[in-house]
Amino acid sequence: MNLVRSNVAKMDGYTPGEQPRDRSYVKLNTNENPYPPSPAVFRAVHEFDPGRLRLYSEPLSLELRELAGAPFGLDRDWVLAGNGSDDLLTIALRTFVDQGGLCAYTHPSYSLYPVLVDLQGARHAAIELDEEFGLPADLVQQATGASLLIVCRPNAPTGNVFPLDTMHRVCAEFPGVVWIDEAYGDFAADSCLDFVRQYPNVVVSHTMSKSYSLAGLRLGFAFADPGLIAEMLKVKDSYNLDMMTQAVGAAALRDRDYMLANCQRVRATRDTLVATLDSLGFHTLPSQTNFILTRPPMAADRMFVALRERGYLVRYFRDPRIADRLRVSIGTDAEMAGFVQAVRAILAAETQA
Ligand SMILES: *Cc1c(COP(=O)(O)O)cnc(C)c1O
Repeated sequence: MNLVRSNVAKMDGYTPGEQPRDRSYVKLNTNENPYPPSPAVFRAVHEFDPGRLRLYSEPLSLELRELAGAPFGLDRDWVLAGNGSDDLLTIALRTFVDQGGLCAYTHPSYSLYPVLVDLQGARHAAIELDEEFGLPADLVQQATGASLLIVCRPNAPTGNVFPLDTMHRVCAEFPGVVWIDEAYGDFAADSCLDFVRQYPNVVVSHTMSKSYSLAGLRLGFAFADPGLIAEMLKVKDSYNLDMMTQAVGAAALRDRDYMLANCQRVRATRDTLVATLDSLGFHTLPSQTNFILTRPPMAADRMFVALRERGYLVRYFRDPRIADRLRVSIGTDAEMAGFVQAVRAILAAETQA
């Protein structure tokens, strides 16, 4: 007798980036924000009354949804709040993809998507990005038969954006739900958020993990036509956001300017880093995120190990399409200066060998 559903027994779980405990590293491996969250978050944590935890949290996260929609002129019935945007993606699969149904997503992209498809017991259409990691011209044709198409923009782990007019065409032509994962949207020059007003089949998701420096809080939002939001509300856990997250998240959302200023700092650091690395012989993809995907002038896996030995943790993917590259999250200016120093030392040792 099998104790486990066959699709679960067969699948590999998602592998998150390491959160090492063996020594202290400069963590440039999971796209966390190097800056602390807003001072308003510190105050909200301090002022939170634990006596309230006796009660259940407010199930519909009404205040959070209102605050999250406001900057975009969207009422709360256009917004769904999730326990991180990973929770929202799980809700997406459970709402829009039948067991045995088809889910399309691009590759290389966020490696959680195929894991969620397996969990749902659905079939995959992994659609290859082109040579420059752009969307293939026949994306919609390749996604034929899928009820859900997930596109990450800016894309992870490549960092690039797809042109807005291409995104418009995909959303207009694809007959199912198009889920646009904008986990890094706050770092980008433009956004597809407005699409939700125009296309009743489009969902755009955001997270507070990266731009708001709140990865540990677990809070994300999906924006869509109220018709789709209402269906997803049926699927979410009844109390999917705890009371502390609701209080702290609301404080952070009220201080959006702090987040935007941090994004600006991260972008400036990123552009300096890219120029420096490229002068050292790296080739870096244009990034609109808080990370870069860069090809070092030596084997990427060996550079990964050498960086680790020097206390810098970056992300190396064995995926053959990007196995010659490293993904480096943007830290503070001081962290990046140290990183560049380590890189120079590794390259010098490499030329001597
Ligand atoms: C980080 C990330 C998410 C998930 O973020 P949460 O921490 O679950 O909100 C979703 N999509 C992409 C592409 C990401 O990089």
